Amino acid sequence: MKPILITLTYIVIALSPTRFFSQTQAMKKNTVKETSPVLLIHGGAGTILKKNMSPEKEKAYRAALSEVLQKGYDTLEKGGTALDAVEIVIRMMEDSPLFNAGKGSVFTSDGKNEMDAAVMNGADLKAGSVAGVHTIKNPISAARAVMEKSQHVMMIGSGAEKFAQQQKLEIVDTAYFFDQNRWDQLQKIKKSEKQQLDHSGDTTGMLLPHKDSKFGTVGAVALDKYGNLAAGTSTGGMTNKKYGRVGDAPIIGAGTYANNNSCAVSATGHGEYFIRYTVAHDIAALVEYKGLNVKQAAEEVVMKKLLKAGGEGGVIVLDAKGNFAMPFNTEGMYRGYMLRGKTPQVMIYKDEVKP
Ligand code: ASP
Repeated sequence: MKPILITLTYIVIALSPTRFFSQTQAMKKNTVKETSPVLLIHGGAGTILKKNMSPEKEKAYRAALSEVLQKGYDTLEKGGTALDAVEIVIRMMEDSPLFNAGKGSVFTSDGKNEMDAAVMNGADLKAGSVAGVHTIKNPISAARAVMEKSQHVMMIGSGAEKFAQQQKLEIVDTAYFFDQNRWDQLQKIKKSEKQQLDHSGDTTGMLLPHKDSKFGTVGAVALDKYGNLAAGTSTGGMTNKKYGRVGDAPIIGAGTYANNNSCAVSATGHGEYFIRYTVAHDIAALVEYKGLNVKQAAEEVVMKKLLKAGGEGGVIVLDAKGNFAMPFNTEGMYRGYMLRGKTPQVMIYKDEVKP
């Protein structure tokens, strides 16, 4: 009888309302403790000078970046994941002709639009990317599909397009990507065999002056309520790039990287340098192994290493505690961030307050 009594007493205590109440309170406490989301975006770096910018153009960029930030932040506040927010904001920028990604992508030397994109999830290091695609309306969604619906990390060209179609992503005629300004831009530099960074003038001797530049590679990094990071980048590449050329954006560790243990990075700039210097992973490695904060790590790579090498560009970097940095070694970078309870913060020029 005794053991039965003891068991019964135990059950009564275990199920007592007070105990049950305090357990649920404790659980509630755990679930309530959420991370305050952070969202950072960029719309490309280059020679972006106020003197070359009309007030209308500037207004359009600032409005577009603000709208994108607001929409992405709403997604995070509603409980969307960092990956969801990154995909949503990049899709918006791909659909806007203001940026060099999706609609409005630059032209290759043989007059085509060849796009690259990548996403990475900081919680499990899953990643997906597409390169050299011509008909996928939103390459960032194709990159996510590669990550989530295939066994692979990277798919290219017609294979990536076939896969996107199977995944029921929107496929468009190549004419959808035609943009007259972009076409004119190509004609201006076509005689040269040099590539051109989206918004650049001739600062390195390798690039041609181009005052009319209006578009930019796009990228986003986000921290969600659950404490997870994600990064994504999408681009048409560099004007007059050779057919088949792939930039840094879709290369994990070069233009895109995310790891909850270090940081999330999205880059914009002269892709060949970002690939050779594995910029995104180099920043993450400095954070993870050397214990630098994201600002120190990003500046070490962008303002020292890359600058010394002649690699133009910038990055947006965010860690899982919400610390972030947005350094660039060009004249300007379209960029912005949003924090809880604040309005979208958008910056273009060098002299605007940098976090
Ligand atoms: N990084 C891109 C590329 O090299 C270009 C850019 O950021 O504008 O393809």
